[in-house]
Amino acid sequence: MDAIKAAIRTIPDYPKPGIMFRDVTTLLGNARAFRAAIDAMLAPYAGTKIDKVAGIEARGFILGGAIAHQLSIGFVPIRKKGKLPFDTLTQSYQLEYGTDEMEMHTDAVSSGERILLVDDLIATGGTAEAAIALLRRAGAIVEGASFVVDLPELGGADRIRGLNVPVTALVAFEGH
Ligand code: AMP
Repeated sequence: MDAIKAAIRTIPDYPKPGIMFRDVTTLLGNARAFRAAIDAMLAPYAGTKIDKVAGIEARGFILGGAIAHQLSIGFVPIRKKGKLPFDTLTQSYQLEYGTDEMEMHTDAVSSGERILLVDDLIATGGTAEAAIALLRRAGAIVEGASFVVDLPELGGADRIRGLNVPVTALVAFEGH
């Protein structure tokens, strides 16, 4: 895990003052760290039946695509509003200032399908909560939510556990 943590670049004051941006592009560009991260994200789910991986735009697509490939299962994109071409379910969620909306195709998951949700980082958990709401509205069972990075001080992982979804993250960083 130390190697994975070391492969993540921190950019202070991006996109605004006071935010420590945890940039996983350096991890994705490092062959060993990328593979180790995918293997470690999968390890807690060995023995769990997963039907599909759902990834949150955009870094969740890269990690989730690799995980889906490794499991030989399908991938479901959860995107910002207006990006998906077919009929969608829409879920609004709270940002620090205002609200945003995320969408998923209406036929992306079937009722009863078991889903692993994937993103690069969990902060407040608002994004993951909206994704879980979309999946549950479609009748899916969210078996777990897997992240590379947790920012525990922001409480997102606990918020998602409160929705009865197990949460795993490979590394944690202090602060925001
Ligand atoms: P949240 O909804 O607060 O859990 O925010 C999670 C989403 O925002 C993820 O898609 C992250 O990629 C992004 N994000 C939030 N905070 C950071 C941060 N400090 N560094 C990098 N990405 C972040």
